[in-house]
Amino acid sequence: MLIVHTLPDLRSALAAHGRPAFVPTMGNLHDGHLALVRQAKPLGDVLVASIFVNRLQFLPHEDFDSYPRTLEADAAKLRAAGCDVLFAPREQDLYPEPQTFKVQPDPLLADILEGQFRPGFFTGVCTVVMKLFCAVFAGKAQGTAVFGQKDYQQLMVLRRMVQQFALPIELVAGPTQRAEDGLALSSRNGYLSEAERQEAVQLSLALRALAREAVSAAHALPNQVAALEQRAREALAARGWQPDYLTVRRRSDLQPPQVGDALVVLGAARLGTTRLIDNFEV
Ligand code: AMP
Repeated sequence: MLIVHTLPDLRSALAAHGRPAFVPTMGNLHDGHLALVRQAKPLGDVLVASIFVNRLQFLPHEDFDSYPRTLEADAAKLRAAGCDVLFAPREQDLYPEPQTFKVQPDPLLADILEGQFRPGFFTGVCTVVMKLFCAVFAGKAQGTAVFGQKDYQQLMVLRRMVQQFALPIELVAGPTQRAEDGLALSSRNGYLSEAERQEAVQLSLALRALAREAVSAAHALPNQVAALEQRAREALAARGWQPDYLTVRRRSDLQPPQVGDALVVLGAARLGTTRLIDNFEV
């Protein structure tokens, strides 16, 4: 596996290869990331992973400075998972000057849920992913990029970005990898104390319960959904969480559901100082 830090080095590493399969990450890799790498491996001629903690997608009070940076261990895991090229730019490689041009996603999709509680988050995500796509896929006729369903809204926003800019890139979704108790794997799980780690699975359990209730109320969902959501939020709050949202949405555009819509439940909540997110398609 080749490790490169600069755009010119990445381009020359990929010059001899055909279609890239690409897995962007912020590092501190766990089995969720590695599952995406293994899924992506047969989808291209060369497997590229990136590690970059993207300042643009963090709010000033968030964990940009403390986000775990574990490049050496990550590189070993990627090598073992079959990665061919690791692109690990430093900040000055990707943002040599302040990034004043940005990709502004559709507010209907990007200013709700995560975007409501983390204003500007999806602008930061779209901007860095566009930049990474330009770095990896420049000069290539086609490519594939794999993203996790764990970040459900992110995947939808990026699909819309690819569609609206007619990028010659296929986006593929990877299923959420979970710990044995059902907690979705996340780099941020490392922030949890032992007691919080025991408790953390309750977010996914609350979402599963909300999903079950949404199914049994399917015929009257538009009227009942607010009450179901409130009950789910209160149940989690009673356990000491600070929920941002636990909600039932339609899969097509993440708006409140109508009868007959295919559904997804999504949630975000803080346990202590750690903010966790999860979702299930219903
Ligand atoms: P991150 O490093 O958190 O930015 O995530 C990089 C990629 O890994 C994104 O596409 C995430 O959706 C994906 N990912 C994160 N956690 C998981 C998980 N538990 N299962 C599957 N994919 C994941």
